[in-house]
Amino acid sequence: MYELQGGLEAEVGRLLCFLFVRFGQMSAETIGRLTVKKGEAVYNVVVIGAGTAGLVTAAGTAGLGGRVALIERNKMGGDCLNFGCVPSKALISSARLIQQIHEAEKWGLERQQPQFVFEKVFVVATGSRAAIPKIEGIDQVPYFTNETIFDELKEKPESMIVLGGGPIGCELGQVFSRLGVKVTIVQRSTQLLPREDFDVAEFMQKRFTAEGICVRLKAAAKRVSKRDGKVVLEFADAEPITADLMLVAAGRTPNLRALNLEAAWVDYDQHGVKANAYLQTSQPHIYAGGDITNRLKFTHTADFTARIVVRNILVPFQFLRQKVDWSVVPWCTYNDPEVARVGLSEKEAKQKNNEYDLFVVPLEDVDRAVVESEELGFAKILTAKRSDKILGATIVARHAGDLLHEFVLAMKSGIGLGTIASTIHAYPTFAELARKAGDKYNKTRLTPTAKKIFAWLYARARK
Ligand SMILES: Cc1cc2nc3c(=O)[nH]c(=O)nc-3n(C[C@H](O)[C@H](O)[C@H](O)COP(=O)(O)OP(=O)(O)OC[C@H]3O[C@@H](n4cnc5c(N)ncnc54)[C@H](O)[C@@H]3O)c2cc1C
Repeated sequence: MYELQGGLEAEVGRLLCFLFVRFGQMSAETIGRLTVKKGEAVYNVVVIGAGTAGLVTAAGTAGLGGRVALIERNKMGGDCLNFGCVPSKALISSARLIQQIHEAEKWGLERQQPQFVFEKVFVVATGSRAAIPKIEGIDQVPYFTNETIFDELKEKPESMIVLGGGPIGCELGQVFSRLGVKVTIVQRSTQLLPREDFDVAEFMQKRFTAEGICVRLKAAAKRVSKRDGKVVLEFADAEPITADLMLVAAGRTPNLRALNLEAAWVDYDQHGVKANAYLQTSQPHIYAGGDITNRLKFTHTADFTARIVVRNILVPFQFLRQKVDWSVVPWCTYNDPEVARVGLSEKEAKQKNNEYDLFVVPLEDVDRAVVESEELGFAKILTAKRSDKILGATIVARHAGDLLHEFVLAMKSGIGLGTIASTIHAYPTFAELARKAGDKYNKTRLTPTAKKIFAWLYARARK
């Protein structure tokens, strides 16, 4: 066993290529490069990175009585707290309120003109996590990313190009549009939110357009330059766009820089550190959790993998270790309305040749949504063909992220749509959306034979 002394932080970037290390099992070469002294066991686990995954791992291990070294090069809390979920959702909340004030007449209130004060709200740190696409001239043009926009944008621009129509681009594009900025979302592929079904993306696109956001699809940016203080984005076969500033939201890149993974023989590729189902890297004593390895990069998946890492580090035998189960993972894009999903989309079901039945419930069928003027949206529930087994659910609704969890729990527990239909849901609630999907499923069970039997029973009762 070894005791670490000083200088670890400086060494970390150069030496360690992973998030979690058990010193007792580190390779001699790696240990040799650290300032280490042979002696008593000091740390059970070293965690590199104090974001969600790192903090949960460190807290979990310490909570179980382990001794942990937690190393962070920047701010505690990582992406989510400093320049991801928290600042973006705070801003989304302001933008939503502004929109509601604009629409005040819908609720019988007088219309107001809300003013957002730009300087006070943006609180963030630095860091480099956004992927910067290879566009000619991008190095010569100032642009924002999620790491800088919350902190450094001090004045309202007239116009903004949002490069990327994925979740971050869509969330921030709508936010800035609602704050009064003329936004153009530029998306290389054929739809916004490419992970979601086309009809879902189309619905959101229509909503964006109605709010005054310009959406450019199939637009592969070719060159960017600065002219007369404005950013000019050029395309191979479309008109250029000129705006005051550009926000790059074109995907995420794993934070591998400065880790020198080769030194520890840890395999990785452009998607991040490779890990097996137990979250072990190519060095079984080195674990990875969170965005550095997860395909689905969310705070809750970072938390989920970190909990498994805590357990697997403690468990001495592989057969007792827990595998990651990615079968039921919910997520939500926090637009207005929100887009939330768990399990398969229709597109994925088709790709996988999964036979399915589809139940669509428009939000206008839900009384509470109508009463609250929030009938914009729908739910798509996929079940295995001729069965009530839920394969996936997509909800587009103002509170879709919350509504989704009835389906998340149902999928996790093997509860079918039929059971949801027979569960009493309070009236009037948005949650009735799930029950109505169940009702639609039940109607499909009314086969011609069943119909004949019922007709006969009713006829008999009338005699
Ligand atoms: C704009 C935006 C909005 C988002 N909104 C949501 C949302 O609503 N819901 C959701 O679930 N997810 C959201 N996410 C994703 C979420 O932020 C991430 O999935 C989550 O933060 C991942 O946690 P993590 O611990 O893996 O990584 P991080 O939080 O990035 O933490 C990694 C830490 O490691 C540190 N580090 C890196 N290299 C080194 C080194 N060599 N030495 C020491 N320290 C190092 C970094 O400084 C950082 O603090 C959002 C992301 C963005 C960008």
